Amino acid sequence: TKYVYDFAEGNKDLKDLLGGKGANLAEMVRIGLPVPPGFTITTEACREYLAEGRPPAELAGQVGAHLTALEQKMGRRLGEPADPLLVSVRSGAKFSMPGMMETVLNVGLTDASVHGLAARSGNERFAWDSYRRLIQMFGKTVCDVPGDAFEHAMDEVKGERADIDLDAAELRTLVGTFKTIFAEHTGREFPQDPREQLKLAVNAVFDSWNAERAVLYRRQERIPADLGTAVNIVAMVFGNLGPDSGTGVAFTRDPATGARGVYGDYLANAQGEDVVAGIRNTVGLHELEQLDKKSFDELMGIMSTLEGHYRDLCDIEFTIEAGKLWMLQTRVGKRTAAAAFIIASQLVDEGMIDLDEALRRQSGARLAQLMFPTFDETAVDKPIAKGIAASPGAAVGHVVFDSEQAAEQAARGEKVILVRRETNPDDLPGMIAAQGILTSRGGKTSHAAVVARGMGKTCVCGAESVEVDLAGKRFAVGDVTVSEGDLISIDGTTGAIYLGEVPVKPSPVVRYFDGDLPADADTLVAAVHRMLEHADLRRRMAIRTNADTGADAARARRFGAQGIGLCRTEHMFLGERRTMVERLILADGEDEQQRALDALLPLQRDDFAEIFRAMGGLPVTIRLIDPPLHEFLPPLEELAVEVATAEHPDPHREALLAAVHRMHEQNPMLGLRGVRLGLVIPGLFGMQVRAIAQAAAKVRAEGGEARPEIMVPLVGAVQELEAVRADAERILAEEGMTGTPIGTMIEVPRAALTAGQIAEAADFFSFGTNDLTQMGWGFSRDDVEGSFFSRYLELGVFGVSPFETLDRDGIGRLVRIAVQEGRQVRPDLKIGVCGEHGGDPESVRFFDEVGLDYVSCSPFRVPVARLEAGRARL
Ligand code: PEP
Ligand code: MG
Repeated sequence: TKYVYDFAEGNKDLKDLLGGKGANLAEMVRIGLPVPPGFTITTEACREYLAEGRPPAELAGQVGAHLTALEQKMGRRLGEPADPLLVSVRSGAKFSMPGMMETVLNVGLTDASVHGLAARSGNERFAWDSYRRLIQMFGKTVCDVPGDAFEHAMDEVKGERADIDLDAAELRTLVGTFKTIFAEHTGREFPQDPREQLKLAVNAVFDSWNAERAVLYRRQERIPADLGTAVNIVAMVFGNLGPDSGTGVAFTRDPATGARGVYGDYLANAQGEDVVAGIRNTVGLHELEQLDKKSFDELMGIMSTLEGHYRDLCDIEFTIEAGKLWMLQTRVGKRTAAAAFIIASQLVDEGMIDLDEALRRQSGARLAQLMFPTFDETAVDKPIAKGIAASPGAAVGHVVFDSEQAAEQAARGEKVILVRRETNPDDLPGMIAAQGILTSRGGKTSHAAVVARGMGKTCVCGAESVEVDLAGKRFAVGDVTVSEGDLISIDGTTGAIYLGEVPVKPSPVVRYFDGDLPADADTLVAAVHRMLEHADLRRRMAIRTNADTGADAARARRFGAQGIGLCRTEHMFLGERRTMVERLILADGEDEQQRALDALLPLQRDDFAEIFRAMGGLPVTIRLIDPPLHEFLPPLEELAVEVATAEHPDPHREALLAAVHRMHEQNPMLGLRGVRLGLVIPGLFGMQVRAIAQAAAKVRAEGGEARPEIMVPLVGAVQELEAVRADAERILAEEGMTGTPIGTMIEVPRAALTAGQIAEAADFFSFGTNDLTQMGWGFSRDDVEGSFFSRYLELGVFGVSPFETLDRDGIGRLVRIAVQEGRQVRPDLKIGVCGEHGGDPESVRFFDEVGLDYVSCSPFRVPVARLEAGRARL
């Protein structure tokens, strides 16, 4: 097996094998950009290493051969005392996992070769600085020496100075101290054989695939756990060689706003992780233009080449070694949700991509993010400070300074803002748990910023006026002190930091959907409008909404809904109507029952008329009442206590208690609800059908349009549906509404399995995937998510809750069977879905695939479903 590829052998499409970094390094070599020579060990080698606990037998030989070739090309040997070749050993998986895995720089430095490096470079300080970095990184990464140990030693030497102020002698002493720390923690000397350093570093990168934070990150980002990482071995170029050297990170467009024009951070006389770690404050790229015009111009040219080549925003890492520019990495860059829409639209304008490609690059999840509210600045005082707007959103929470504590408090349901000087990958659990992240150091390319953007989490970074006192658990801005537990609000769109809780207002995207902003109101709104219009053009499925009030229906229609797919009627029996339902339940004899129904009828008629009016002539699927009747009655225990302790007996309350007793169920979700209720309480469904018919007639009489469809819940056998249907048809005929479609939900597994029979009596199907999931898995939809799902996710039983994303293999199979067998009997059978999955991006794609006619979801999800239904057709 070929486990090692020279950069000259790969290309950008080999990400599975070479990882993202390796594939893109190869691609840059292919298009003639200045990349230091090197080679990539494949993800396959990593997978074998992880499975077997040792590297594949052929690996050492192949690495050796490539190393020899590299040495020949460079004219230097790895760790050669007089003139050493040094290499970096860098992780790089298929999907970028910023900072989650390991990298070791300066491999090849030893007690002997550090002198050679000093002599050859004529820069003693640089040589010792490189060596102390190697011991530090190698110690931490390869040998698990706690990073603090090195940092404390360094802080002691530094005092108040920056690391750059340490001179050669001090660094040399520090190397001695670091070696002692290394030996103390590992029980061995720092390895002096360069090839052994290399081998250990490669294995450590393999191992870092399973580091805790990497596992957590993958789970969060839904990256498969079995891909493994590639390892890139690259000839070192040095950004810490002096003032005419440096290292930087740049984007071809602003990843936060999508604005045109390069964006980046540069740090002179620095190496590798210094920029992203936020150790020193970086400068903008324009300052590089002042420092080194030639490199700057070359960099601009390369960035434009890369963007043209990848036809997308790219981010890059580069190093300038004594005035010579080197590219260390590129990839299609992560960006905020807003930037994703804006950039795609710009690229269409620039003729780089077409609208299909632009749409392909969006996602419903991102559109959903853009619909979150933003702060209402008119309602607050000035911000106490401003940082860099790194990842948008409006976050409010209690200040916490520690990742673990943030996770704990969030688990208790508290909203927290994680405040750090800078974050590192160990802060990941806290970042996931927090509403937002605030750092006092680091730019838009810092770890906090990159990770937050990837997760869609609000982040303000580099707020320099914020002085974080971790030990004292507080931060200060001027004379304002904010302590742990205090409430703050941070705005990831503007970078503003406010004391206390700032009220929020709807996002511009929602205001556009609501008709309050024109389609060309701003770049973001225009871009969203453009993508949705194109999605509408492409999609096959219709999008309906779940709404049960006129206001919700009207709003969903503004958001683009083409009808109501589920109007639940349960809520229409709550509030003051509860007593009317009570009377119905307690009715003594048919007359009394009829009187109770007669009282409900006009109310229901008004409910439905309001919805028909809101929807114009669009179809409105009204579902007959579903939940267990006891939900309309007082809780058993409370009522029992009330009756037992009453001073005077109350016959009404006593009768009620008896009824509650009688109706009490151990498993109400599997009990008397849905069609069962309709068949047991005569007249209840009939009253609803009559109200629907009369409401439609009423709206038509007003000159309006009404297109009702009647839907029966919880059907498991065709006989149930036939019984309801016979009664409903009789009533519809009496009301002059013959021909109103009568369909059923498919939400009991038996219904899916006997869909062919049920289709005989149904004009349409609508999948109730909430109940179908509940009954298919046997998971109580109201209980399990908070109880054992986290364990199930950990075990990989599923990657995401099946109540959120439809389980294709199991519940999806029921859906497929029902579609196929239903249509066999009735080829024109209209089929939709109205469970929560109807608004879930992944699930929408599935429903398109299996041939549903429409999805129905909550009003806010309608744009998301439009977008995804369009993307599903590309
Ligand atoms: C369903 O079960 O998916 C459904 C839409 O009905 P409800 O959520 O009201 O039970
Ligand atoms: Mg249901």
